Amino acid sequence: MPDLRCTVQTCTHNQNYYCNLDSIVVGGNSAKKAAETSCDSFEARKGGSAYADAYSNMEGKEASAKSSVDCKATECMYNKACQCHAGKISVEGGNACHCGETECATFKCGCA
Ligand code: SF4
Repeated sequence: MPDLRCTVQTCTHNQNYYCNLDSIVVGGNSAKKAAETSCDSFEARKGGSAYADAYSNMEGKEASAKSSVDCKATECMYNKACQCHAGKISVEGGNACHCGETECATFKCGCA
């Protein structure tokens, strides 16, 4: 289970660059580079700016550093049987409005 850091402050699950989900889904069936992956668990934060309510859902689950990652990017060298085995991953997509604007920046193609 990798350490998960995420820069997507527009996602409702993001708490101070951590994710409050125990498990996320990364998409990108035939991805050959990071930009072709996406965090399919992205859910847009409702209303207002990303920063204004960044701490508004603290009554929910506490975000933790680790999340299990069900990953469809099978070309990635860290992908084993659709589970991520990287020590640490970074999900990026600063101002994303939908999951297509996010990506797993740690993706490394095992195809080369
Ligand atoms: S590092 Fe690779 S296996 Fe892990 S989530 Fe990112 S794309 Fe998937």
